[in-house]
Amino acid sequence: MSMDSFRYKPPKPNYLPHNVDVDEPIVEDFYKPLGSVTDLENATYFNKIKRAAQTYNITRPKGYNVSFHTNPEMEKHHFGQTHPMKPWRLTLTKSLVTSYGMSFAMDNYVARAATYEELNMFHSNDYLDYLGTAPAEDTPRDVDTDKEVKYNLGGSDCPLFYGLYDYCSMSAGGSLDAARKICAKQSDIAVSWGGGLHHAKRSEASGFCYINDIVLAILQLLRCFPRVLYIDIDVHHGDGVEEAFFSTDRVMTVSFHKYQPEVFFPGTGGLEDNGPKSEHNPGAHHAINVPLNDGITDEQYEWLFQSIIGQVNERFRPSAIALQCGADSLAGDRLGRFNLQVQGHAACVNFCKKLGIPMIIFGGGGYTPRNVARAWAFETAIAIDCQDKIDPVIPMHTPWRDHFHHETLFPTLEQILGEPRANKNTQKRLQDMVQHVTEQLRFVNFAPSVQYKTIPPDLGGIRDDVEARLKEESEEKNDRLRRTREEGVGIAMEL
Ligand SMILES: [Zn+2]
Repeated sequence: MSMDSFRYKPPKPNYLPHNVDVDEPIVEDFYKPLGSVTDLENATYFNKIKRAAQTYNITRPKGYNVSFHTNPEMEKHHFGQTHPMKPWRLTLTKSLVTSYGMSFAMDNYVARAATYEELNMFHSNDYLDYLGTAPAEDTPRDVDTDKEVKYNLGGSDCPLFYGLYDYCSMSAGGSLDAARKICAKQSDIAVSWGGGLHHAKRSEASGFCYINDIVLAILQLLRCFPRVLYIDIDVHHGDGVEEAFFSTDRVMTVSFHKYQPEVFFPGTGGLEDNGPKSEHNPGAHHAINVPLNDGITDEQYEWLFQSIIGQVNERFRPSAIALQCGADSLAGDRLGRFNLQVQGHAACVNFCKKLGIPMIIFGGGGYTPRNVARAWAFETAIAIDCQDKIDPVIPMHTPWRDHFHHETLFPTLEQILGEPRANKNTQKRLQDMVQHVTEQLRFVNFAPSVQYKTIPPDLGGIRDDVEARLKEESEEKNDRLRRTREEGVGIAMEL
């Protein structure tokens, strides 16, 4: 038994869009493109992406290792016709990543779903039990009038859709897998675009998030690293993660977001909110919030990000980074209100990568799928250091290429928005915020004094048992699949 059973090499069975094999119409919007794909089509696609990798000279990055964690089953779920969250954006992202041939430069894992025990490391039993047993509902309940809404589940934000528990455990499974690979030093950068669900609370769903995979992954990192820096560039405040690590000095959270309490979700994350007010609480000064107004530009965002994260890195000296890359901060997002382009968003990833610290990159929000896919594919390129090699023109063989509207990875603001949004962020205000952060950081003890005083409980034996059992099951399944494939086409499907 080896770790290879967890590793897939393109093409994977069902590597291209595949049959939906459940009763419910999980993917409605894109039901047609998700129709059947033959082995021959899979093999043809594989040859094209292999050629793309050669054309762009995509090779494994030098001196470090990148892993990519997905679960194709997760992508089939559907929150409801009018809900902004479309898990299909993950399919579109992967479509770009593979079409450029980037998969050849990374370790690609299909992560197993997280177990109940693993979710229980952060979430309460009551909440998980309800999440696992509440029946799916066709239409969301009216939260204001229906008193039956429990744990904020079943309303229009967090509907009880078909397959919800599986969806959540798969999302968490990807991020936990990423954390395990970082802890085991098998990866230096681990990418989990299916994670990043930063609003979920211990016993409550919130803002399209049910299970906080980031918190679970950071708990895992804390077993191996003394200090973890959490950075959040989603357009919304990373409230769930901030709250989870509110009282510890082993995690510092930094969130850049639109802030307009009363009208913009979740309404928390003001500049003065820097953790517990009591100096006796170790978490004091370990939460940093950068509240922004509509219309911020690439140039301003990059300057702010680098000024703040640069200082935080100097002072806090993180031993690992958890970077949430919510793509709703991009211009043209269905919910977001910034003027950020792929280049500005991705500059944050590049800056963090250059710090040379082990890092997990999470997804998060992002409600215009073509923009999400562009950003996350380009950020994957940065992770494997091929951002300067790839052609901005989206490869011709990319599935759903038409869906991107413009054939470049970097459409202009005019192409995305028609007219850019008015920028309500003055340079003076941004400078004041950097100044405020500088002052907060003076209160943060210089890094080496941090001790391992609150090591999260170890799942030890339980986890190893579960791991071994699941591995066995997965191997059996893989064997069966491989046999079927080989009989079917007679083409060697391995690299
Ligand atoms: Zn968001």
